[in-house]
Amino acid sequence: MTSWAGIAERIGEATGEPFAIERERSVGGGCINRAAVIDDGRRSYFVKLNAADRAEMFAAESEGLSAMAEAEAIRVPQPICTGVADGQSFLVMELIDLGGRLNGALAGEQLAAMHRSSSGTFGWHRDNTIGSTPQSNRRDADWIAFWREQRLGYQLRLAADNGYGGTLQRSGERLLADLDVLLGHDPIPSLLHGDLWGGNIGSTPDGQPVIFDPAAYYGDREADLAMTELFGGFGADFYAAYRSAWPLDPGYPVRKTLYNLYHVLNHLNLFGGGYLGQSSQMIARLLAEIR
Ligand code: ADP
Repeated sequence: MTSWAGIAERIGEATGEPFAIERERSVGGGCINRAAVIDDGRRSYFVKLNAADRAEMFAAESEGLSAMAEAEAIRVPQPICTGVADGQSFLVMELIDLGGRLNGALAGEQLAAMHRSSSGTFGWHRDNTIGSTPQSNRRDADWIAFWREQRLGYQLRLAADNGYGGTLQRSGERLLADLDVLLGHDPIPSLLHGDLWGGNIGSTPDGQPVIFDPAAYYGDREADLAMTELFGGFGADFYAAYRSAWPLDPGYPVRKTLYNLYHVLNHLNLFGGGYLGQSSQMIARLLAEIR
């Protein structure tokens, strides 16, 4: 049973209007957190809940939503408040009706516009999480070093800790050593969603694309695009519109595998099983490109 008194009080403080919950309904579908819709008869909010020790994860998610909202390129739920109350951590945000059908062309154009939002260096002002795995975002002007140390290297070390040593580690280390051969295209630091698979995009009934559940940082925009293709793809209209708004550099198909390797390694670390074979195959394909 969820207790709402503390969260309701925080909503009241954040919005300047007292909030007394009249109704709550649990909503399913999230991978990591519990979620609910609450309302006081006039206002409704979408709330994510987890154990009290996950407050930093929600704080980072809230800041990611704010950063994407500030880009004013693609709609995201506005965060209202986050913290710990009644023994649980919470993130309250704007409730958006996601019952529409995605307009892929508009989503592609708007994502390209968000990626125009740039920063001096890669990384972010804080760490966050990818799924429930920590994601390090230490600022670095060198994209290759960033991807080597804070993305692939981190997940490979985690895999070693999880018992995936041997061949995966040896081939992974060879890949890291030669990363500059694959990543020589000189991207700018773009604001990324960071976890942009099909489960984290939706549409309002009137056709406004919405992205949510980010793992934001500044990085190569191709890393966002690559992930859209990892579990299915967003449709031809989406990619055509993105490329017409901002063409991709030559060599993207190889970098796509390199960028998605990060997420597949993360899945290996979170779920194990078949992701070991998939990770090894991806590394083998990339090593073949280097030779
Ligand atoms: P998790 O972090 O647990 O994966 P998500 O943030 O992906 O959770 O949210 C779970 C589901 O809830 C989403 O797939 C989406 O359908 C819905 N959802 C997420 N945010 C909102 C929102 N602001 N308003 C309405 N529905 C939302």
